[in-house]
Amino acid sequence: MSRKTRKGLGLAAVFLLLILMPRVQRTTMVEEIHVFERKPEKYIIVIDPGHGGRDEGATGASGLKEKHFALSLALKVRDVLESDERIQVLMTRSDDVFISSLDKYRPNFANENQADLFISIHGNSFRTPSVSGTETYYYDFASRRFAQVLHRHIVQAAGLRDRGVRRGDLFVLKYTNMAAVLLEIGYLTNPAEEKLLFDDEFQRSAAKAIARGVKEYLGLRDI
Ligand SMILES: [Zn+2]
Repeated sequence: MSRKTRKGLGLAAVFLLLILMPRVQRTTMVEEIHVFERKPEKYIIVIDPGHGGRDEGATGASGLKEKHFALSLALKVRDVLESDERIQVLMTRSDDVFISSLDKYRPNFANENQADLFISIHGNSFRTPSVSGTETYYYDFASRRFAQVLHRHIVQAAGLRDRGVRRGDLFVLKYTNMAAVLLEIGYLTNPAEEKLLFDDEFQRSAAKAIARGVKEYLGLRDI
């Protein structure tokens, strides 16, 4: 290919990108929900990494972002859960995209895909850096037992302060039709905890704990 054609093609590509950009952005703001084909005999678990894109979530003690922690842990949870053939995992986001809360995309995604369980993953923040620990939230009473089971496994594996299972008026929990929880694994504003939360080994062990909790709740024996 001549240098001129290459240049021409390059320009055309940039032009095309500019035309397509607003459309791409619209879809990352997510109006359309992809409904996946349901595989028979599989539980559908929706994993929802909190925040994303320009919504960075909390900023940690050293400046690390909650959105990155949430995605990193969520992907590990997906991998552990999907190693069990009885489980199909769907992610509300699997990269660093922005999801508007205005159209309730996260809960709608779970509802339209008829998920059995919904797990939203977050890191906490507070103005006092000494505050630390794990909290698990549910909204509907029907989700409480799921929250308790997951919380027990996470606290045991993570070894952080047990701040309890709490009821929270959080939209991702309020508008989901299935058992739904929101995990605040630890406090990013606590320097020691921030370090731990971004530690690969810590995340791996937390992911396994979440998967164990899911399986215990669903009554799936380890195979
Ligand atoms: Zn958050």
